[in-house]
Amino acid sequence: MLDKVVIANRGEIALRILRACRELGIKTVAVHSSADENLKHVLMADETVCIGPPPSTESYLNMFAILSAAEVTDAVAIHPGYGFLSENADFAERVTDSGFLFIGPPADVIRLMGDKVSAIRAMKAAGVPCVPGSDGPLGDDIGDNLQLARDIGYPVIIKAAGGGGGRGMRVVHSEPALANAIQTTRAEARAAFGNDMLYMEKFLERPRHIEFQVLADSHGNAVHLFERDCSMQRRHQKVLEEAPAPGISEEQRQRMGERCVQACLELGYVNAGTFEFLYQDGEFYFIEMNTRIQVEHPVTEMITGVDLVREQLRIAAGERLRLRQEDLLPRGHAIECRINAEDPKSFVPSPGRVELWHAPGGPGIRVDTHLYSGYTVPPYYDSMIGKVIAWGDDRHSAIERMRIALSEMVIEGIKTNIPLHQEICQLGAFRAGGTDIHYLEKRLGL
Ligand code: ADP
Repeated sequence: MLDKVVIANRGEIALRILRACRELGIKTVAVHSSADENLKHVLMADETVCIGPPPSTESYLNMFAILSAAEVTDAVAIHPGYGFLSENADFAERVTDSGFLFIGPPADVIRLMGDKVSAIRAMKAAGVPCVPGSDGPLGDDIGDNLQLARDIGYPVIIKAAGGGGGRGMRVVHSEPALANAIQTTRAEARAAFGNDMLYMEKFLERPRHIEFQVLADSHGNAVHLFERDCSMQRRHQKVLEEAPAPGISEEQRQRMGERCVQACLELGYVNAGTFEFLYQDGEFYFIEMNTRIQVEHPVTEMITGVDLVREQLRIAAGERLRLRQEDLLPRGHAIECRINAEDPKSFVPSPGRVELWHAPGGPGIRVDTHLYSGYTVPPYYDSMIGKVIAWGDDRHSAIERMRIALSEMVIEGIKTNIPLHQEICQLGAFRAGGTDIHYLEKRLGL
């Protein structure tokens, strides 16, 4: 097993990784910004290294500082978590070039899947269904682009090849708006991602977001761990996730899962990954792959009993997958609510001191958070402060357990979106299951 791992992240995921390391007897190094000395995992880690001032560009995104920390502490591997440098191929490359293990896929696979145009090409070649669209990057000839949009059929969506986090895309409903939309998105993409390559897709009007979890080892073995439904979104950001996805047949689940496994093998994919799809009128359309652990991984853990972060560590250590596809069976239903430090109505972030924290409990309830009474949520980072996960033998019981857990949870001193989640749990359409990605915004009148 690995001897010592640098946790190159913060918050709940850093704590999640620390716990998995402890279980495997791996020593931990917490690297943190000067604003994060009081983070729970920093207080718990075997060693800590301050890697810079509060802004993430100078700390959690500072490759040199993180690599230096790995060197001075004699670590053997770096776990990037999610966000920050987790999908940065250059970082993965520098980690391995410096003689450490990167706990994720090889840098060239991150690079391939990080460019959405090349990712879609690779998926098509592997027989994974994609959204009808431009086969490759958009050129500058407006005549060609108009023809392409006509062939695809309006509405279309213009997307940046290097986009992420819901940014760098624009929907076009009719011909007169196309040229301008391409121009604006190109300028935005250049400024935001340093890459102005664009592509065009059919804009699906009422899709659901359904994604498949995979695990692959470095010996050519891969399995899928079924799907998650992440359709409850606001501004393309996931708010609540669940597994399995309501209404997906066993036959569809197996067929799509097998396609994803096949794609992993063809890509030379290693470690944990997620294939994201839009799902509409009974069809799946690939949109992108996330080459890292995801925020919503616990719902998959709850229905499969597999510890995905522990598997990531084992795979990075060169072990063979112990899981066999035929042994994996989804059991019951799990729901996750992302708890954010923000105003539940205006969504304005609400950092500050947590005066009182009480975790919910009971059968099937899991809380992944770094909160404690007296902890101060700093203003510099993402507003997510934890996740509540509820498991039940069926969807109804998972929702009921979630409802009770939310009512038990006490966070005083800062505002949170718990009231929003309580509202969602009562909505008839959510309780029925299968709402599309626009449902929440429409319902909230956003
Ligand atoms: P990002 O990397 O920024 O998350 P994605 O390609 O995953 O970008 O798209 C994010 C979200 O944008 C999707 O979950 C969906 O809500 C919406 N979206 C993307 N492509 C389409 C499409 N072709 N039709 C409809 N909605 C889309």
